[in-house]
Amino acid sequence: MSSLVRRLGRRGPLTHVRALHASTSTATPASSKQATAQLYSSGRQPIALSSAGITFTLEDGRKVLDGMSGGAAVQCLGSTNPDVVAVMAKQAAQLPYAWHQSLGNAPGEDLAAWLTARSDGALVAAAFLNSGSEAIDTAIKIVRQYWLEEGQPQREYIIARNPSYHGNTLAGLGIGNVASRRGLYAPYIPDTFQHVTTPQLKRSGESEEAYVAQLAKELDDKITALGPQNVAAFLAEPVVGSSVGVMPPPKGYFPAMAAVCKKHNILFVMDEVMCGTGRSGTLFAYQSVCEGVQPDILTMAKGLGGGYVTISGVLVGPRVADKIIAAGQWKSSQTYQNHPINCAVALSVVNKIERLLPNVQARGKQCVAELQEAFKDEPAVYDVRGQGLFIGVEFDVPSDLSPRFATRVKNRCFDNGLLSLAVSGGVDGTQGEAIVLAPAYNAKEAEISTMVEILVKSVKECLAELK
Ligand code: PLP
Repeated sequence: MSSLVRRLGRRGPLTHVRALHASTSTATPASSKQATAQLYSSGRQPIALSSAGITFTLEDGRKVLDGMSGGAAVQCLGSTNPDVVAVMAKQAAQLPYAWHQSLGNAPGEDLAAWLTARSDGALVAAAFLNSGSEAIDTAIKIVRQYWLEEGQPQREYIIARNPSYHGNTLAGLGIGNVASRRGLYAPYIPDTFQHVTTPQLKRSGESEEAYVAQLAKELDDKITALGPQNVAAFLAEPVVGSSVGVMPPPKGYFPAMAAVCKKHNILFVMDEVMCGTGRSGTLFAYQSVCEGVQPDILTMAKGLGGGYVTISGVLVGPRVADKIIAAGQWKSSQTYQNHPINCAVALSVVNKIERLLPNVQARGKQCVAELQEAFKDEPAVYDVRGQGLFIGVEFDVPSDLSPRFATRVKNRCFDNGLLSLAVSGGVDGTQGEAIVLAPAYNAKEAEISTMVEILVKSVKECLAELK
């Protein structure tokens, strides 16, 4: 299989990374760690000191059960993984860095081969970057280069969905659509990012079949309006993550959207930054929920490094790889691309993930079943849903009663000893108030039940306060 694997890119460094949030160059008042706190937190967050298994210990001695794999669906093996630490140390001693116009490295090659070999032939080449946002930017650039090499440079439009979150770089914010995250930094690359509706079947009130037909028509109409000859790609998360709080697609959705892409000959990009790398119960999320539809380009991140390293991946299928390789060069690269330590650690992480997939499926089913049972008579809980260990609990609490109900619940969960994530996606930020749970893949049955208990107790407490 490895002879099929062709990694993209052989150019020199373009970018340099500098930490904004924890400058050590300014004088630090010795009395308070929080005086140097990250810009985004304003120093108000409790500080985590250590973690063991799936529990954090805070500076004040409190323990918090980690229902969110480190907070952002990343630390998918929990902490305390001596094997991964040993791989990291070994690689750091042997070859910490090697990336040049004419130099690759073995861990990058090995990781590309391992991942592509498990893609059912969909993906044949990969490049590794440092964050999900960079993977999205890179995917957009690969789409652009593909159509340039095809002799169709006018294909500039990429259609994504509304709402959706695809990262925090300018291109990521531009192609995504969450009002609260996006508004501050507009305008974006003018007009090249377009949007169609993100499926929310239950809210639609339609039958699954009618809703899917409606969404496919919407994409078809959008492409027709833009001019099919001007459209480059459609981009979607197989399981929506943070914008609407975990949303598996309706049955038939991916085949219907793929048929429209095929009709107009456009590329299908799948963003698996959050839902992929085992989170949805299979290594790639498309293998769980896309009913045989495969991506032309796929992004992954988060769980890929298990929280030990900051790594993301862009994987491409034969249609894209052949075109770009035939052209001779992939015109994008970064200083820390295919970083040997990142890639070696990621390979160790994905090997462990593969063995944990049955637990992801079983614990995910357990968590959804226990939450559904606990909330079955609670009208303020609009929906409980999940795919693998990726679970969403959506609320229906009038915003005049509590404008940010999910945030209130998340804060109460934290006080009660559980780390969860609050999202308030929705098209305009008013719908889709939800709590997300995305625990480590090795979470135990009893730990999942404890998470459910704390979440249920926290929701009840918050609701009682509204009355
Ligand atoms: N794409 C999706 C679906 C995400 O959920 C995220 C982050 O949450 C990103 C892209 C951006 O990833 P990162 O925060 O690593 O840049």
